[in-house]
Amino acid sequence: MKNILVAIDTSDEAKQVLKAAIELGRCFDANLSLIHVVEPVVTESSYDLINSVPVEMDGFLIKHSEDFLDNLKKDLAPDTSSCVEVGSVKAEILRRAREDSVDLIVVGSHGRHGLALLLGSTANALLHGAPCDVYVVRVKD
Ligand code: AMP
Repeated sequence: MKNILVAIDTSDEAKQVLKAAIELGRCFDANLSLIHVVEPVVTESSYDLINSVPVEMDGFLIKHSEDFLDNLKKDLAPDTSSCVEVGSVKAEILRRAREDSVDLIVVGSHGRHGLALLLGSTANALLHGAPCDVYVVRVKD
């Protein structure tokens, strides 16, 4: 096990996911890298006049996400690499996993969709499409 990809959202539970991934990384002496995906603001071509607003919005969200990741890493794993991608959460995480020949994806059981479901939608989607093992961190309230 060499490369572990950690899917980080901007929820309060992200720290739990990162802490579990760090433990795993230590056990296997593996490299960690973090990924956060910004889902683009959807526009319709008929709204040409306001097209510049979503573009600026994406830029704002990317910067916000980079700051969030830097803050999260600061105390726990300052030297860990991280990236922010724009697109579909599932597709971007799986793309990165394939391109970087990742051995394990670490994902939280629940994020913004709360604990009502047995498994959140992202974890579920990754389990179905991943080219490698997936470790699901049971996120607690
Ligand atoms: P959810 O599907 O929103 O319940 O989130 C479950 C888990 O999926 C989170 O704990 C994260 O590990 C991961 N996740 C959700 N949204 C994102 C995102 N935008 N970027 C990266 N990982 C995410």
